[in-house]
Amino acid sequence: MGKEKEPVLKIRNLTKKFDLKNGKKLTAVDNVSFELHAGECLGIVGESGCGKSTIAKILTQLEGVTSGNIIYHNRDITHLKGEELRQNRKKLQMIFQDPAESFNPRMKIRDIVSEPLLNFKLMSKREAEVQAKKLLAMVGLTEDFMRRYPHQISGGQKQRVAIARAISLEPEVIICDEATSALDVSIQEQVIRLLKDLQKEKGLSYIFIGHDLAVVRNISHRIIVMYLGRIVEVIDSNKLTTDAVHPYTKALLSSVFSVKSKNDTEIEIIKGEPPSASDMTHGCGFSSRCAKCMDKCLKEKPELKEIATNHFIACHL
Ligand code: SF4
Repeated sequence: MGKEKEPVLKIRNLTKKFDLKNGKKLTAVDNVSFELHAGECLGIVGESGCGKSTIAKILTQLEGVTSGNIIYHNRDITHLKGEELRQNRKKLQMIFQDPAESFNPRMKIRDIVSEPLLNFKLMSKREAEVQAKKLLAMVGLTEDFMRRYPHQISGGQKQRVAIARAISLEPEVIICDEATSALDVSIQEQVIRLLKDLQKEKGLSYIFIGHDLAVVRNISHRIIVMYLGRIVEVIDSNKLTTDAVHPYTKALLSSVFSVKSKNDTEIEIIKGEPPSASDMTHGCGFSSRCAKCMDKCLKEKPELKEIATNHFIACHL
């Protein structure tokens, strides 16, 4: 993982607000900055509504930004349009939770996988078919899948097809948005192993978004923990269970791992739901659920600060 090199992607002060019917604004993503390095898998984890999927849509330009910048290899791609945007999508691909939604049910798997190659006029129909066969083999599917329709294959096989399609254009970055969340645990593990193997083989960079911390940690080198549109902690995955300090990260951890904290013995389980992002104007977004909340937490938003090498936290503690 080449951290010393220039990052592939730099996200700077990204903010996304949505207008609500009641005239209020919902801040789905609030001043988020991070970098993705070549060959890295960066995990983004948090509960539903924390802004992680909005980030995925912004990065693949399915959503616009309210403010902030996306820099890809030193080029600002935030506001690309038309053909420039289309060409850029070759390099930044996305895998969704439910791949079937992006498949045309009347197309055979062969055509679903070869469609991007034909759309970008990269090869003839015959060559694209040969390539589709190779791509399916790379994701562990045999030639007979070429002639099947999406409804004739399982959820795990559909996700393999989605991966084959995503890598067909030889992207540099793949954004996986809850890509394994709908799969059974054993199939989930197989798909993650496949993603890891492809990453090594092709030098891909991933942003792996999920709500299950154990799954995200399994594949990621670094993890961003998000709460209510903001980053609350960034930590190397191999230090997650021992060094995490944010009360929200520790609560997430305690729900999936046996955690022995360095600093205290008791880890609170989070209760209740997050407040609405449209009501959060000041203070720490986690204050209503945090057992360690202080006066200051209700008044001032904690800024993200580096507390150790590659370890950032936004908390007044
Ligand atoms: Fe809890 Fe305060 Fe830290 Fe927020 S800033 S997580 S309320 S201690």
